[in-house]
Amino acid sequence: MTDAERRAALEAVAAEVRACTACRLHRSRTNAVPGEGSPETEVVFVGEGPGFHEDQQGRPFVGAAGSLLDELLAFVGWRRPDVFIANVVKCRPPGNRDPEPDEIAACAPYLRRQLEALDPAVVVTLGRHSLGAFLPGARISATHGTVHPAPPESGARTAAVYAMYHPAAAFRQAALRETLFAEMANLPQVLIDVRAARAARPSESLTDTPGGAGAPTGPAVAPFADCADEPDIAGADDAVPELNLDLPAPAGLPSADGDSRPAADQMMLF
Ligand code: URA
Ligand code: SF4
Repeated sequence: MTDAERRAALEAVAAEVRACTACRLHRSRTNAVPGEGSPETEVVFVGEGPGFHEDQQGRPFVGAAGSLLDELLAFVGWRRPDVFIANVVKCRPPGNRDPEPDEIAACAPYLRRQLEALDPAVVVTLGRHSLGAFLPGARISATHGTVHPAPPESGARTAAVYAMYHPAAAFRQAALRETLFAEMANLPQVLIDVRAARAARPSESLTDTPGGAGAPTGPAVAPFADCADEPDIAGADDAVPELNLDLPAPAGLPSADGDSRPAADQMMLF
């Protein structure tokens, strides 16, 4: 797919989402939230669904959880326009309740089409609903911080899933903040490993690769360990050269009050 085709496919999904009435969530929404980011990115973050502020603005992760996501990105030297941010359901569940299984199922084709267009290297699932959309039956408490091949039927044909807690979980359980930053710090290395695995076996699902774990609840990072020392990793896929792959110092957890949100004019909207 060319960049123009990718962009057009994402715009088509966004337009359909904004007009969608496929589940009951359309009745209570102010704005649908299709997602936003770089059409050329290698990394897609998938949250659960819009909250109050997202519903008001039609953009993902712009409330308190979004501020923490911005901080997490800044921690590894990334910015929102470097990645793509989407949700499992595109319309806000009333009162921020959990999305129902039939709502998730109704909305799934949109995320699948976004992932088909983006063909990312890494899908970062944020929270258990997002994890469940990729690795059904996996438990977040056991799976966070680990890497698994994405099921090709997710639309992310050659991607790895990297499971993280939802940023909002840190508001309920303060210790998870440190977990989130520590696991974010590993994401650049996960991307480096997946790049190497994809360069070695382009267009093949990581599920089918010799080192692939296949099973949804397999071990951490091991699927890609055999490719970690591949030469010229940075040149293997130059779609997003601006993604900083310098690993942050492990001790450098930022304070709770830092504000690293980029200006609105840096955003790319779909
Ligand atoms: N929480 C989510 O899961 N998604 C958003 O877009 C915002 C908050
Ligand atoms: Fe359509 Fe998804 Fe919104 Fe339901 S949540 S109305 S399926 S866009």
